[in-house]
Amino acid sequence: MVSRIIPVASFDLVIFGGTGDLARRKILPALYRRFLAGQMPADAQLIGAARSPLDDAGYRTLAREAIVEFGGEQAGERRLDAFLGLLRYVTLDARGDSGWDALKRLIRPDRVQAFYFSVGPGLFGALAERLHGYGIAGPRARIVVEKPFGHDLASARALNATLAEHFREAQIYRIDHYLGKETVQNLMAVRFANILFEPLWNSQFVDHIQITVAETVGVGGRGAYYDRAGAMRDMVQNHLMQLLCLIAMEPPSRFEPDAVRDEKLKVIRALEEVAPHHIVRGQYARRGDVPSYREDVDDARSTTESFIALKCHVSNWRWAGTPFYLRTGKRLRARVSEIAVIFKDAPHLIFGQEAGRHCNTLSIRLQPDEGMTLQVTIKEPGPGGMRLIDVPLDMTFAEALGDQVEDVPEAYERLIMDVMRGDQTLFMRGDEVEAAWAWTDPVIAGWEGRGDVPKPYEAGSSGPEDALMLMHRDGRRWREIR
Ligand code: NAD
Repeated sequence: MVSRIIPVASFDLVIFGGTGDLARRKILPALYRRFLAGQMPADAQLIGAARSPLDDAGYRTLAREAIVEFGGEQAGERRLDAFLGLLRYVTLDARGDSGWDALKRLIRPDRVQAFYFSVGPGLFGALAERLHGYGIAGPRARIVVEKPFGHDLASARALNATLAEHFREAQIYRIDHYLGKETVQNLMAVRFANILFEPLWNSQFVDHIQITVAETVGVGGRGAYYDRAGAMRDMVQNHLMQLLCLIAMEPPSRFEPDAVRDEKLKVIRALEEVAPHHIVRGQYARRGDVPSYREDVDDARSTTESFIALKCHVSNWRWAGTPFYLRTGKRLRARVSEIAVIFKDAPHLIFGQEAGRHCNTLSIRLQPDEGMTLQVTIKEPGPGGMRLIDVPLDMTFAEALGDQVEDVPEAYERLIMDVMRGDQTLFMRGDEVEAAWAWTDPVIAGWEGRGDVPKPYEAGSSGPEDALMLMHRDGRRWREIR
């Protein structure tokens, strides 16, 4: 048996913003899949709470439509109805007083209580205050908050302080859904449960590391928000930073929340400031019918980046001398999130020049097709001398484990259930988020001070030419986006 359902105690989960996009696309379908997997306690209560005037029946209809549209595999009307029976709805105003008494009547004090703040961060303070003011959240209640967690260090500190007025750090679950992915956890297993990799996991043997999060979509309907953020704030400060931490961190003494997060924090604090010539910002240009970034955000002079590539260094004993290349952007050639650890060449080539140069690469793919592959060099089979080829060694083990692998839960499913279990390992701690902003802020201030304008790149490409040059100058190449 490879994975098994760990039962969770009965709970009340309130989804503030329960009618919003995130709730419909991610949270409700994730809860339904956990229900199908048999992990939902029979008397769990899932309470949507938002401004729209709905009753329970209206919310169940909304949830049914969301699950049909975004829920993936369906399991028939009877099971869906059974799930929908767990849903309740309260109309309330986060900033006002209506609805809070009704919510209080629904919450059972003897259950695990979780409050998902699926609303803009501007409402976090109002929600936290009322949860206490109305005596709804008990001392062990948990709150879940989404990105963006602040816009810079000052705003992140202010948000942390607001939440801290009402909740202890142990009650706050800051979601970065990248951490909920199966492969991210598999990365930790491969690193810390095998003797094989750890001795090589340092600047003596690792040439460089590439982290790529490429999207094919543009800014879509999020233009107004995105144009104030840009790729650095929207992606690098959180998702790419978290991936970098997991690759670079020292082995924690235990797989426990604070032990893991302490090690991640040390990595962020060891990051050197990025030199201006190690940053390339880009903005997608129109291609055929595909509008440009500036058209998408309706600002012909926007200088916000929809693409960023940068080179950074973790200055500690393990990583001194090994560059980390980070790259993310919208409207790129393919949708892919991948970390690649590129090992150094063998120190001496006994097979001669004609055998070519080969290096081992460990690639960890987060989406699509989650998986982990080790590229190894072998002899090309057959006659004709010693020709070498690189072949992938699949380390996801899906094939080896075959039928024993149960359906792997998606990120939101795992993370929501971790909240119910009270496990914070895969959530960001307040000081981590602040440290990430402390690293990000001067980089942004630097290009703002220089009046830097992003380089245009063609939609459907791999980003601006300068990003390729960032690597070429170092005698390296980006992995293909595909
Ligand atoms: P949305 O605008 O679609 O939904 C907002 C929800 O909040 C609605 O249910 C609305 O009724 C409710 N709401 C607004 N003002 C309220 C008030 N005063 N009182 C009570 N309820 C109120 O937003 P969304 O896309 O679902 O995003 C929610 C949060 O999650 C945001 O912070 C967003 O940045 C974050 N987030 C969203 C996504 C996504 O994919 N949509 C991804 C990552 C993070």
